Amino acid sequence: MNSIVEFNRYTNSPVANYKGRLYNLPFNMNTFHQMWGVITPEEAMDKIAEQREIALQTMRSKGIDKPRNLEEQALTLIGRDIYEKLIKGYTEKQWGRPCSQLPAFIINRLPVRFIFDNNYFNDKYQGVPVGGYNKLIEGLLKGVECKTNTDFFENRSYWEAIADEIVFTGKIDEFYNYRYGKLEYRTVRFDTEILDTPNYQGNAVVNYTEKEIPYTRIIEHKHFESFGPDVYAGTKTVISKEYPMEWQDGMEPFYPINDEKNAALYEQYKRLAEREASVVFGGRLAEYKYYDMHQVIAKALDLNL
Ligand SMILES: Cc1cc2nc3c(=O)[nH]c(=O)nc-3n(C[C@H](O)[C@H](O)[C@H](O)COP(=O)(O)OP(=O)(O)OC[C@H]3O[C@@H](n4cnc5c(N)ncnc54)[C@H](O)[C@@H]3O)c2cc1C
Repeated sequence: MNSIVEFNRYTNSPVANYKGRLYNLPFNMNTFHQMWGVITPEEAMDKIAEQREIALQTMRSKGIDKPRNLEEQALTLIGRDIYEKLIKGYTEKQWGRPCSQLPAFIINRLPVRFIFDNNYFNDKYQGVPVGGYNKLIEGLLKGVECKTNTDFFENRSYWEAIADEIVFTGKIDEFYNYRYGKLEYRTVRFDTEILDTPNYQGNAVVNYTEKEIPYTRIIEHKHFESFGPDVYAGTKTVISKEYPMEWQDGMEPFYPINDEKNAALYEQYKRLAEREASVVFGGRLAEYKYYDMHQVIAKALDLNL
């Protein structure tokens, strides 16, 4: 990637807004100080241990020995305060279902840091391409014949006839004409506005974690590429509010729904895909799996065509 485009020094450090109070993410000493006023890692650990114990005791008193859903999982991993203020509303908006009806495995672990570090990622390298992602894509495709605005399914037999091997990155259920049924997705509607202020929220990402606000987060795009005084170089700013919703035909599918029903359906399609001799199913739609960019790039580099 670095041979194609230079990356800037953007560091993802989202902020959560719960009922007008701000908390740093991911959960770290800043968050714990904002939540409880604790000063030392030991005080924070004690507070979390105390709240986890209450959740465990409540469960045991009801005869439950293993978390049965996301709510119980979160309560026993991190305790009630963080769950109710920073996880519950956001997750319910994101998935359109109550946490008590979501599977526990969605949050197998919750990363917690007992240091003052708001960097969302632990990766050594982080950044956004200088000049934008288009520059990266153009570089990757240099010298490669390319047709855009072309739906594979509109002329399927033609593409199959001219290709020795196909890397299919569309929806796997569509590839098989939905013969076992449709996989479900969540998607997001972006409501984008240009505002007459140079700096609306002071950060690229602010999550709104209460249920009553219908969007999950506001992205202020300039903070991905303007740092320090450059933020004030222009008089306006662009923000996008993200409204999560159930995917329907005609919308762009974003997030696979990792419940048992959809996982079983995907397995059926996967079994068909494994029998294809000259088609590789790759990426988030063909593998029905949430991938971040670096993961999908790694997967592509591992391909032995
Ligand atoms: C709201 C949101 C925010 C995200 N933020 C981040 C982030 O901050 N960092 C990060 O690393 N990742 C992020 N991601 C994930 C990132 O978008 C994915 O990792 C990446 O796009 C996956 O690449 P892919 O090749 O698997 O799929 P895609 O990028 O979706 O590529 C699939 C391609 O197949 C094409 N295609 C599909 N069907 C057909 C068809 N029938 N005919 C022809 N072409 C077809 C599509 O047009 C598309 O170009 C985010 C995703 C979402 C939805």
